[in-house]
Amino acid sequence: MKYISTRGESKELGFEEALLRGLAPDGGLYVPSEWPSIDFTKLKNQFYWESAAEILQPFFGDFIDKKELNILTKKAYKSFNTENMTPLIQLDDNKYLLELFHGPTLAFKDFAMLLLAELFDLSLKKRNKNITIIGATSGDTGSAAIEAFKNSKNVNVFIFFPKDRVSEIQKKQMTTTGGDRVFPIEINGTFDDCQNIVKALFNDSSFNNEVSLGAINSINWGRIAAQIVYYFTSFKLLENGPISYSVPTGNFGDILAGWVAKKIGLPINNLLIATNENDILARTLKSGIYSIDKAKATMSPSMDIQISSNFERLLFEAYGRDSSKIKSLMSNLKDNKEFTIDDYALDFIKKDFHAKSISEEDTTSCISDVYKKTGYVLDPHTAVGYAASNSLPSEGSIITLGTAHPAKFPTAVKKSLGTVPEMPDRLKKVMNGDERFSEMNIDLEKIKDFIRSNIV
Ligand SMILES: *Cc1c(COP(=O)(O)O)cnc(C)c1O
Repeated sequence: MKYISTRGESKELGFEEALLRGLAPDGGLYVPSEWPSIDFTKLKNQFYWESAAEILQPFFGDFIDKKELNILTKKAYKSFNTENMTPLIQLDDNKYLLELFHGPTLAFKDFAMLLLAELFDLSLKKRNKNITIIGATSGDTGSAAIEAFKNSKNVNVFIFFPKDRVSEIQKKQMTTTGGDRVFPIEINGTFDDCQNIVKALFNDSSFNNEVSLGAINSINWGRIAAQIVYYFTSFKLLENGPISYSVPTGNFGDILAGWVAKKIGLPINNLLIATNENDILARTLKSGIYSIDKAKATMSPSMDIQISSNFERLLFEAYGRDSSKIKSLMSNLKDNKEFTIDDYALDFIKKDFHAKSISEEDTTSCISDVYKKTGYVLDPHTAVGYAASNSLPSEGSIITLGTAHPAKFPTAVKKSLGTVPEMPDRLKKVMNGDERFSEMNIDLEKIKDFIRSNIV
């Protein structure tokens, strides 16, 4: 499979190069040059990792053969502690929850990050190369990355997180893994400061060459690809009638994977973009105008996002893969903080997608209502998805993606239920682990020296 950039000015690459690069040099995102087709009826009676290899093979085919991919997916997911990696729980007549939080950091990001770590390792070993991954995090991404790469020999990982702005649990998840090549760095500043550090390091081409920087944020195609799999494996569990998905959304990665699943052969009915009060996508579907507002802090922090980067990939399809259109929309966004989507492209999007924004108040009542009715405790991100699912037309079943374990967000749960959720053993262990991290100021030269002196 070849990969092309949504902005049309970077050369076509194979999967491996697109994986290692992350972002295309023209600022666009890599997408497959064509869409394969998958026969989902073939996936019956398979383990998750077998279906993963089956579905991902066409996307990774020029890099890894089927036999090797089977070994790789099995290895990637060995740290899940359940036989059934993605339990499907029925909460109401036609409403289901897909639990995606049984991996090592108790959030769905483990699915993509664990696979990415294996793919990186394989590539770097073949090339006899090392790279340095840097990333900024407000919580879940950093912990999933550190956990996934902690045993990697060829990858150095530096994750910047803002002092006092990530939860105690998230911090412990980043600082207690004991990996020698992972370096959590607490920055005396905000999440935006952390992101600016990462951008500045990437833009410093001599430093970039010196330490071989790599990116693992959610614009990496390898992460999107990994997330396609659980749409297929959950679909096959409910074969009666149309199925829609409600997806708690921030950067539009997880739900884009749902659209890809539909595109390559899964007969999904509706895809519901569920947002918290950071409602840029809900506003966009209503008005056709994508307009950046200030980010609000909510009880579902992993969705507190102003720009949904992966939306660019959907726009590319909505515009019939016309990269000149995407370039001009993105340049409007940069200059005016907004752009207007043409009617035909908006119609294309609305054919598959609905959107709904959920207030803080409605998130809290959803957690408490579901608990009263069923005894089930939702985390605040999942609650946004579940509350939004009431806005979908009622035909068929609706699966809400359960993106995090409630124990990761005890404050929000306590606010809704008056008690904190029980901690799984895995999390208890993390909370008792020894922390190791560095504290630094926003000083690029010092940060560069720190990276230089710690990499292999
Ligand atoms: C990252 C995250 C999301 C949002 O996913 P996107 O792919 O950015 O849309 C939702 N819930 C949780 C718990 C997350 O960590």
